[in-house]
Amino acid sequence: MLNLVLFGPPGAGKGTQSENLINHYGLVHISTGDVFRALDPASDLAKLAKSYSDKGDLVPDDVTIQILENEVSKHPNAKGVIYDGFPRTNAQAEALDKFLGKKGDSISMMIALDVAEEELKTRLLKRAEVSGRADDADPEIIENRIANYKRQTAPVADFYKAQGKLRLVNGIGSIDEIFGRICEAVDKG
Ligand code: ADP
Repeated sequence: MLNLVLFGPPGAGKGTQSENLINHYGLVHISTGDVFRALDPASDLAKLAKSYSDKGDLVPDDVTIQILENEVSKHPNAKGVIYDGFPRTNAQAEALDKFLGKKGDSISMMIALDVAEEELKTRLLKRAEVSGRADDADPEIIENRIANYKRQTAPVADFYKAQGKLRLVNGIGSIDEIFGRICEAVDKG
């Protein structure tokens, strides 16, 4: 199995590059952000997730881990999975290792997209024009997402670095250029 963690701050281009990667490598794409947004808005779970995401805060680990495991289990015959937006905390990374380990599986590598902060803010505000996402439209919420990324999520890169699985990729350039860099990293193994 080719199991990739696609990593980077909000606005780094994870969703865009995932689209390219699923076609190229024939993988299943699991984005926890997309899963939360696809929940029935009337459900308690959707309301709970939205109460965090609208503010730019992370949804609690126990809820997110459950949602992720449930989503992975829907694809028992996948050739591999792109994890987009998960794990976002060290507790999630540990839970994912345990979950995959039970199936004799593991993460192949983490691709970390590197993008400067000013560029992220510009991209998110631009995305707000089409995404309709409350968490993209407000500069204060964007600041909070980036701050939470630095505090809670950035350490996850060290988790994979310690396993020799971290691959840093320059996330500035055209979509095709960045995709080329990602493929190079994946093909090298
Ligand atoms: P981004 O553009 O910030 O990468 P996502 O679409 O991945 O956005 O996620 C949107 C929101 O969903 C996050 O700000 C967070 O509230 C919630 N979320 C997504 N993935 C996770 C996760 N792994 N752990 C906790 N919360 C998450």
